[in-house]
Amino acid sequence: MSKPKIAIYKMSSCAGCQLEILNFEPMLLDLLGAVDLSYFVMAKRENEEGPYDIGLVEGAITCGEEISRLKKARQQCRMLVAFGSCACYGGLPSIKNWTSEREIEERVYPQPHLLESTTAYGIDHYVTVDAYLKGCPASREELLEFVKGVLLGIKPYLRPHSVCVECKLHENVCLFTSQGKVCMGPVTTAGCGALCPANNKPCEGCRGPANDANTESLARTFDEYGLHRSDVVRLFRKFAGMTPEFSRGAEVL
Ligand code: SF4
Ligand code: SF4
Ligand code: SF4
Repeated sequence: MSKPKIAIYKMSSCAGCQLEILNFEPMLLDLLGAVDLSYFVMAKRENEEGPYDIGLVEGAITCGEEISRLKKARQQCRMLVAFGSCACYGGLPSIKNWTSEREIEERVYPQPHLLESTTAYGIDHYVTVDAYLKGCPASREELLEFVKGVLLGIKPYLRPHSVCVECKLHENVCLFTSQGKVCMGPVTTAGCGALCPANNKPCEGCRGPANDANTESLARTFDEYGLHRSDVVRLFRKFAGMTPEFSRGAEVL
């Protein structure tokens, strides 16, 4: 049986999700044994033309050229995966959606009028998406689980519950209730193993909203804890402000 062909596309991103693949050599060897990384510009000089079985798209969509490339990727791939929170929700690039973009461009670029930029969205704003691998960066373990699921023809287990569940399973002391550190864990999708709380840092919400996330209630609780409204807004808009759930959290106060 021929190996499934995988293509990795880069849109507006820091390339950190692709680096996660390269940085995890044991997984890379496993992957290379089971699949054909046909198109991976960051890692290979020579890349094959499509069609592909699986396309991983990293990055938010922030300009017309990316919309065209994304639509072509959709046509080339049997399954298209949003790889990392930028591709899932707009991620960090979506912070620009609430700032005066032209003012910032004028500070950075000598000829800002040459730039063509659109509102930053996750890829499902433009195309149908078959799976979401969340996180900033995306979890390499989840990627491996996903690829194994595709190879075995079974549905991969991508966690719908909140980071708090994983935090409790690891028997971490709750930073929120015991130390008063505001934490996005109650409304954020699990899958990272509660990485930040396990290292004594509150969750910042990088994996986006968990199922049934009550973001309005958490925003009000942050307010009761004395967090300034602008900081509540910042927390909800940092990684997934374009989602309805985090958008409600940002706007409720
Ligand atoms: S999700 Fe995070 S690590 Fe991945 S490309 Fe976006 S900013 Fe970089
Ligand atoms: S530290 Fe954060 S993620 Fe962990 S249980 Fe407390 S609120 Fe939830
Ligand atoms: S604890 Fe929160 S911010 Fe940290 S990796 Fe997990 S989801 Fe992301």
